[in-house]
Amino acid sequence: MNQDIEASPSPKKQISNVTVCSRFRPLNSKERKDHGGQVCVRRIDDETFVFKDEKEEESTFSFDKVFYEDSLQADVYEFIALPIVRDVVNGVNGTIITYGQTGAGKTYSMEGPNVLESDDMKKGLLPRVVDGLFEHLASAGDSIKYEITLSMVEIYMEKVRDLFDLSKDNLVIKQNKGHEMLVSGVTEASVSHVLILRLNLQAGIQNRAVGETQMNLASSRSHCAYIFTVLSDSTRDSRGRTGKLVLVDLAGSEKVEKTGAEGKLLEEAKTINKSLSALGNVINALTCSSSKSNHIPYRDSKLTRLLQDALGGNSRTALICCCSPSTSNSSETFSTLRFGTRAKHIKTSPTAKRIVDAETGARWNAVDVPTKVESVERILAEMKLSPTAPKKDDDHHERILTKVRFQGLKMLFSENYNAVE
Ligand code: ADP
Ligand code: MG
Repeated sequence: MNQDIEASPSPKKQISNVTVCSRFRPLNSKERKDHGGQVCVRRIDDETFVFKDEKEEESTFSFDKVFYEDSLQADVYEFIALPIVRDVVNGVNGTIITYGQTGAGKTYSMEGPNVLESDDMKKGLLPRVVDGLFEHLASAGDSIKYEITLSMVEIYMEKVRDLFDLSKDNLVIKQNKGHEMLVSGVTEASVSHVLILRLNLQAGIQNRAVGETQMNLASSRSHCAYIFTVLSDSTRDSRGRTGKLVLVDLAGSEKVEKTGAEGKLLEEAKTINKSLSALGNVINALTCSSSKSNHIPYRDSKLTRLLQDALGGNSRTALICCCSPSTSNSSETFSTLRFGTRAKHIKTSPTAKRIVDAETGARWNAVDVPTKVESVERILAEMKLSPTAPKKDDDHHERILTKVRFQGLKMLFSENYNAVE
């Protein structure tokens, strides 16, 4: 796509704090068995709780919202993501980040059991965001034309890999003319249907690097970013807009010694900790009023470079600090909560953007909203073409794509599946 992005003629400059929430997952069976189900958190209300550290000392923490172990996936979406989804459709960028030690519930919050999940109790943020984007765009009826694209990248050992094309394993993060961060050359899958979008997500997720540690058998050792771009064109006021929504599922923030990592895993853990430290340093520099220089060390890691907009620029940003409630993890939980407390003070300035074609100067010309019949035809055609089929290890990926297509078709024809048309 050959486009530049420019600010709206009279953008309303807003200053907004990062929304910070904490989420405690239920105790797992190991924590119940080994530690008698003892917890380090005592609920005060929906925004405040008392935390008890290893020495039984108590501190009170307050966040924009606290989701306890009985919280619903739908509540997390409604509080954190829904306002951001609405903004993205109106051309304001948004970012949602999950942070916390391995096994604390980051991926469960982000994906749910998997992104094709249709059970409303279990569905995570990603499938809900997908539904929400299409719902909001469709509710505008004929007055709005739109296109949604999806890119997925993984930052693993300080390299940015394209999860839709594994041959692109060292992508560069750059700033465009509108000073927005972008991953240069990343695959952009143009998606016209909610189901195709979910299938693309699933195919990308299958390509993530995973390792095994004592803490979580399938723990993710990489940071994963899901980048949605919504190009919309209103026929009513003939304004083109683009909104970018980035969801980031970070790798575990635990200390190296606790995971029992050695060799390659130790190297991974160190690199992960380094980029998370860089994230902490950026947050400190942004929130430290006594800082003499204005230097924010975004360039110290790929992760902070990718999150530059989210933390210091044009984005509405939310952070979910995922925690184990068990006393056995209280030191990691404490460090996660301190990270969240610091992030609360970051200020960003989300502004609506509109798009202009770099060559012709014309506004972006959006595709039509598909009708129901067109949608189904397009789904079948897109499945056949498998636009996001990665190139490396074709057999393996073909098997994965066949599996996701099958699951997708099952969903498509399932009565329980509420596709948004
Ligand atoms: P992380 O991504 O932080 O490493 P996961 O999201 O994989 O952790 O969660 C670890 C385990 O805990 C998974 O089995 C997941 O299903 C479960 N879990 C996490 N959060 C919740 C929750 N809120 N409710 C129920 N189970 C959860
Ligand atoms: Mg995970």
